[in-house]
Amino acid sequence: MSFFRLIDKGNYPKRLFVGGMHGKESFSTINALKKIQSFNVKNGKLIIYNCDQSKYISTLDKRYYNTKTGIKILRLINYYHPDMYIETHCYNPKNYKNLIDGHRKEKVGVPPLIELEKGVLIGSVSPHIRTNEFKRENVCLTLEMPCFHQKSDEKRNNFQKQKESFEIYLKILKIIAGSDSRSDLEKKISEDYPKQFETARNYAKEFFGKYPPF
Ligand SMILES: [Zn+2]
Repeated sequence: MSFFRLIDKGNYPKRLFVGGMHGKESFSTINALKKIQSFNVKNGKLIIYNCDQSKYISTLDKRYYNTKTGIKILRLINYYHPDMYIETHCYNPKNYKNLIDGHRKEKVGVPPLIELEKGVLIGSVSPHIRTNEFKRENVCLTLEMPCFHQKSDEKRNNFQKQKESFEIYLKILKIIAGSDSRSDLEKKISEDYPKQFETARNYAKEFFGKYPPF
């Protein structure tokens, strides 16, 4: 499921979208990443990389960045120095509650993800890379949708829901692809999701001590 696309319309901003970072997520994320086309990018660069299937290690686990996939991602970050770095993940619906849990910080050390709508969640990236690899003004986001490879009994019931989630996920990716700066992106997201944007800001402030995070 390895996939690479570079859309080049200038030097700023540089956006890096990575997907399928662990487990079988790549089978779901590739469907969205492949749908982003040159016309979705007005200026700057967009680098899209979907990883191969790999063993599941959470990006919150420091060892992740020593795995083959983790090293590849760090290389991409260090090569392109993206102004916007977006991780596209997917989750098993049974983990939904844990991801948005108000006590997630006490439990796993990071703030909860925030639901935009239809099961699409947004949050920051792993603290292991947020402060080491990026500058404060860079945009670093994680996007989550339910994975496509669920058990077959639930498949039929979940199909419509998954489709709706997928459309929102793709919409957000296209918004990011078409944004030319942090403020432009923040304006667009906060227009559609004012409450969620405010919550995200507060979580980042709490966690990193400042907004944008540092
Ligand atoms: Zn993931």
